[in-house]
Amino acid sequence: MSKLPNITTSIFTVMSKMATEYNAINLSQGFPNFPVDERLTQIVSKLSSENVHQYTPMAGYPPLMDQIAKLIQSSYNRTIEPETEILVTAGATQAIFTTLLALLKINDEVIILDPSYDCYEAPILLSNAKPIRVALNDDYTPNWNTIANAFSDKTKMIIINNPHNPTGKILNESDLEKLEILLEKHPNVLLLSDEVYEYITFEEKHISTHTRKKLLDRCITVSSFGKSFHVTGWKIGYLVAPEYLMKEIKKVHQFLVFSVNSICQVAVSQYLDLVTIKEISPFYQEKRDYFRSLLKNSRFKLMPCEGTYFQVVSYAGISNENDVDFCKQLITEHGVAAIPISTFYADGKDLKLIRFCFAKDNFTLKEAAKRLCAV
Ligand code: PMP
Ligand code: GLN
Repeated sequence: MSKLPNITTSIFTVMSKMATEYNAINLSQGFPNFPVDERLTQIVSKLSSENVHQYTPMAGYPPLMDQIAKLIQSSYNRTIEPETEILVTAGATQAIFTTLLALLKINDEVIILDPSYDCYEAPILLSNAKPIRVALNDDYTPNWNTIANAFSDKTKMIIINNPHNPTGKILNESDLEKLEILLEKHPNVLLLSDEVYEYITFEEKHISTHTRKKLLDRCITVSSFGKSFHVTGWKIGYLVAPEYLMKEIKKVHQFLVFSVNSICQVAVSQYLDLVTIKEISPFYQEKRDYFRSLLKNSRFKLMPCEGTYFQVVSYAGISNENDVDFCKQLITEHGVAAIPISTFYADGKDLKLIRFCFAKDNFTLKEAAKRLCAV
């Protein structure tokens, strides 16, 4: 009598567990393995003996909400009202779950673009709504005609993820324009924009929904401090939504978590005065370039990586196996864990592609690459 008969254990859990069992280098699940900025750990140490251990207000610690508004102003030149338009969440996962549960009704349809990150589908199903999964082109550009054709009179929402996990692709100006035109034709459709990798982009600039005036009155934008500040285990993020949607989202949030970990909220609010956001992209660009240079002479084919900390590679020149089996063998025979891309498709489409996370110290990247070059 499962409510989610087709949902299984997340591929990130499966691969990380297997990596641990076989003592493999874990480039599967996306998390950094280098030390956190000392300025942030010092703030946390200091806070542990201060009076910051009780509930914060439900929607977030007010100074943090002011800091988020300042960040959005400086990054995107958008002015938002912290009290009515920001919600601090236990990571982007909870932001997305809460939003979907609050806004979807029975039989609503939600368009998701495949390959898609795994946390969208379950809350849609639990809302008795229907995920409509539309594949991106094989080069991971969106096919706006196919997407337009997937709209029906039941469509309630479209979810975009930009920069995109797992492919590292980012949407360009023309994509955003086409999205705006499409949504103009469907005035009641909402947009959920998962932008957790907003500060990790390389040659091309990330275009945030925060900068798109035409979208703001129906857009929920999701961010993650876990990704931006290398603290995925803190599970802290936020969403921005217009007040009429936020009122509904807060109704669910108050009974799902009520409020988010107080120390982390205070720590991030203080850290935001110290950190230079613009340094995050060059930091990861160096890692991307280093990892790519190490794999240059391997038999893997490197796919483009425009943003995120994921590098997709093709193993088509190495093996004909399906990507899940290939990843398992990579762990057991070569000691490196990766994520098979087919698991991000509703139909399990297998293009012989796997994903490595390069948010690792250089020693780890070098050792992993040495093993991969031997494949
Ligand atoms: N969306 C995407 C695209 C992700 O890669 C992740 C993983 N960090 C999340 C959402 C969830 O983020 P968080 O860890 O802040 O819940
Ligand atoms: N976002 C991470 C990834 O893509 C996984 C986070 C998780 O395991 N839920 O690898």
